[in-house]
Amino acid sequence: MLFFPTAAEDEKAAPAGTLQVSSTTWSRESHHLFDFESREVHCREFAMNGGTFMRNGTEVDISSEETALPAGDALVYIAASAAVPGTFVVSPPRVPCRTKKLWAVVHKDSPSGHNLAQNDLFRLGRVKFRVRQLVLEGPAQPSLCVDGTKRTTCGWQRGKDIESKCCRICLMEGPEDDDPLLAPCACKGSINYVHLKCLRHWASIKLNAPGHSDGTYFYRPLTCELCKTALPTHVSCNGVEQRLVELPRTEPPFVVLENVTDTSAQGKGLHVISLAQRPLTMGRGRECGVRIADVSISRCHATISCKGGRFVLQDSGSKFGTCVAMPWVQVDDSKPVSLQVGRTVLTLSLPSSPSSSDTMDVSSGPMEEDTESGASAASPAQAAAGSPGGNPSYDWRSIGWNFL
Ligand SMILES: [Zn+2]
Ligand SMILES: [Zn+2]
Repeated sequence: MLFFPTAAEDEKAAPAGTLQVSSTTWSRESHHLFDFESREVHCREFAMNGGTFMRNGTEVDISSEETALPAGDALVYIAASAAVPGTFVVSPPRVPCRTKKLWAVVHKDSPSGHNLAQNDLFRLGRVKFRVRQLVLEGPAQPSLCVDGTKRTTCGWQRGKDIESKCCRICLMEGPEDDDPLLAPCACKGSINYVHLKCLRHWASIKLNAPGHSDGTYFYRPLTCELCKTALPTHVSCNGVEQRLVELPRTEPPFVVLENVTDTSAQGKGLHVISLAQRPLTMGRGRECGVRIADVSISRCHATISCKGGRFVLQDSGSKFGTCVAMPWVQVDDSKPVSLQVGRTVLTLSLPSSPSSSDTMDVSSGPMEEDTESGASAASPAQAAAGSPGGNPSYDWRSIGWNFL
């Protein structure tokens, strides 16, 4: 018996085009990295209309929805888009696996790079960064809120016997008119108190804050070296709250990046970087604006520059690549997309269909907030329209692909 779909069902019908996928798998398994310079790779080509990509050893294969999944690691799940006919949606597999988000490759030869948006998560090699703030112009300054820390305020210590108390740093007795004694941590007894100025001097040495004239520095929450409690972020002096550490003014445009992966003795913190005088270079080299001591980082790995009102992330030909996290990706015929899943890179493309290429509405989903509750993720509609603060919107089409 012939079956004729109704109009509603017809809209959900499979697209006309067939998705072309080429898989490249690095022969080694090392920290789920992919070596973009290695020739020891296993390549395969696929033409498909949906299913789950699996990897067993270096062998990548596809399993259609109807059949049982073969043994191995599930990489991505691909299905025809119900919302935009003729396109495909790539998402993490629907079976238990380690792929929780997709990593879109920012290719070194992509002239447009990736337009960063606030809250983007990107990865250089295995080192992850979260974009906390992007400021193009205006009086705004970095909001130094490290994930998991709160704004805390410490007041002056008052009372009759405060005059006889000693500062734990300078050992002088009692507060001065403009220099109160504080009890900023859990230490007790003779090391309970410290002058505000003494504490600020110590903190500025710890943070090495006045590094550049444009207000570029690395900020991290400070803890007492003895009792290990977090020091207050602010102090209250005569009813006025001030930041405990006096930080330089950062010249816009600037970016604030949180080092999600702790790779050094620096600890978790925020890279506050002004792009007013130069683009930001990130890598293992001494000359880089953000130096990252990790074996998966190239000497000059990636750059962030301000171009035409956008903050652009570009790869500098790194060995282990630059990727941006996405919960799902839509593939249409405008441009191929490359995704890295552990030691495999999948490049997906749709042969162009002239009738639909001009009108395709493409977008990728916002990243789910998985580490904090501060900024809210933009909806796909907001992402398409640009975020309210005038920051660059998500644009997966700017991601390069042709790494081979
Ligand atoms: Zn003192
Ligand atoms: Zn203490």
